[in-house]
Amino acid sequence: MNAPQSAPASHLSADDRQEDRYLASTHEVINQPCALENYNLYEQDTALAEAARREGATDREQDLVRFGALAGAAETIDLGFRANNNKPVFNTHDRFGHRIDEVDFHPAYHQLMSLALENGLHSSPWENPGEGAHVARAAKYYMHSQVEAAHCCPVTMTFAAIPSIRKQPELAKLWEDRILHNSYDSRNIPDSQKASVTVGMAMTEKQGGSDVRANSTRAFPVAAGGPGQAYELVGHKWFVSAPMCDAFLVLAQAPGGLSCFLMPRWRPDGTKNPWQVQRLKNKMGNVANASSEAELRGALAWMVGEEGRGVPTIIEMVAMTRFDCMIGSSAGMRQAVAQATHHCRHRSAFGATLIDQPLMQNVLADLAIENEAAMTYTMRIARALDHQEDEHERLLARLATPVGKYWICKRTPNHAYEAMECIGGSGVMEDCIMPRLFRESPVNAIWEGSGNVQCLDTLRALQKEPDTLDAFFREVAEAKGSDRRLDGFLTRLKDDFTDISDFQYRARNLVDRMAIAMQASLLLRHSTPAVADAFCASRLENHGGMNYGNLPSGTDAAAIIKRATPVVG
Ligand SMILES: Cc1cc2nc3c(=O)[nH]c(=O)nc-3n(C[C@H](O)[C@H](O)[C@H](O)COP(=O)(O)OP(=O)(O)OC[C@H]3O[C@@H](n4cnc5c(N)ncnc54)[C@H](O)[C@@H]3O)c2cc1C
Repeated sequence: MNAPQSAPASHLSADDRQEDRYLASTHEVINQPCALENYNLYEQDTALAEAARREGATDREQDLVRFGALAGAAETIDLGFRANNNKPVFNTHDRFGHRIDEVDFHPAYHQLMSLALENGLHSSPWENPGEGAHVARAAKYYMHSQVEAAHCCPVTMTFAAIPSIRKQPELAKLWEDRILHNSYDSRNIPDSQKASVTVGMAMTEKQGGSDVRANSTRAFPVAAGGPGQAYELVGHKWFVSAPMCDAFLVLAQAPGGLSCFLMPRWRPDGTKNPWQVQRLKNKMGNVANASSEAELRGALAWMVGEEGRGVPTIIEMVAMTRFDCMIGSSAGMRQAVAQATHHCRHRSAFGATLIDQPLMQNVLADLAIENEAAMTYTMRIARALDHQEDEHERLLARLATPVGKYWICKRTPNHAYEAMECIGGSGVMEDCIMPRLFRESPVNAIWEGSGNVQCLDTLRALQKEPDTLDAFFREVAEAKGSDRRLDGFLTRLKDDFTDISDFQYRARNLVDRMAIAMQASLLLRHSTPAVADAFCASRLENHGGMNYGNLPSGTDAAAIIKRATPVVG
């Protein structure tokens, strides 16, 4: 028989052993940053505050400061994590067997939706148009999207639906007040019982995504047919985000061609409209938001705009969603810069804080100017949207929106990755926001018209309204004479527009350069000399390097970083 085992003799005294603290403590945690939270996203973003004031939102600044504190609160940031850690779940039926088509979201998603809608992110420029309306909303959206981008999809679609729905005044009369209501009602009940509703968009089909002319969903008139009349829709949709929206703008083939329809999720008699969600998409990013596949089995809908003019009708909505993609991607960059600079400000390696290491300074400053260029461009277009009665502003918004949507969204994924690397291994971990920013980063570039489609839309604008190009160059030329690099860049760019016969093939090159020229012009006019000089040196002149961290010697990187760094802790 084995002898019972006795505890090995301890080298600690009895007193030491009684102190849990002594036994549990293996090391002191040092050289780690504090959490980036409880800060004001507006007040701690110098470039944003300058842009909001410059582009016309000075009178609305108090509200932006208030919202900045709300967006930076630890509790708000936490909602973003919770909404993403708990993916939405789709239930076809209730436990008694009734078809319900209900997506079950985590409460944090609903709280974020409430925050967005109660603060007018879907409504403010339509309710109180005028000087600074779109600018202030863009600034708010820029902050809110940094907290959590995925739920911003239904916020954007609800906001963007207004210009299209207004094309059918009797439908607008029925819906507009409820769309613009500054509250959120998540209940799965008929819209007639709700004070506030949300609106989605259903264009994309399996056989025709970008090319919506290939859509096969058919619309059958219930009676007379025509604008404002009732139809039944039969077919499918391959991508429908936020399927719990109360209504959708849908493209379908009417007898007179592809048309736009407003389709509520419930019929006016309180029964479910036969619009059935098949399943949710299993997305790599944007996971807090549900995106679905759906079938329309005679779903009741009302025609918006002229029969056969579905694309021109829904394009009003699409133009606004594209603008929001610019805000969203600029915001993703801003949050990445805030995280990277904050981390490097608190982290030391090889005898100095990372933010003071010359090579890291080059990377951080480069990320910061990319973000500021994107935000500055976006806010300039927001001002153009506030002044659509002015012909220059109208032409500018028409051309600069596809150019900006293409460029800014496309610049975001590599920016997110590089910021993640500034944080090192902890930047890869799911309890850091960086993986979420990274997975979110390609989405804006693909939906609402992918990169090539934006370039082709730029060409369409040039062909249909050649004056848009004059407006674009007139705007860029506002900085003429202030930097020889921009002057030379503009001369070459203009020369390359003298023959646009093979524009399709060269479109990416031309659109890239248009975007860079606009950003350089805006930064030269409005930003600090350090930011403008670094942008011109690295974006208008080629020194051979391709990655972030290629700012030339002589750049005042410290000044650029200071401007971009939120001071927390
Ligand atoms: C997360 C997510 C949510 C979405 N939500 C919605 C939604 O709510 N409602 C909705 O209607 N849609 C939605 N979409 C669909 C999205 O808008 C489409 O995926 C997008 O428009 C591209 O269409 P597609 O996927 O059919 O690709 P395709 O149209 O097949 O395009 C594939 C590629 O070809 C390129 N291309 C197309 N035509 C040309 C050309 N002539 N020349 C050169 N290149 C070309 C495109 O730029 C793209 O890169 C969503 C997509 C995603 C990823």
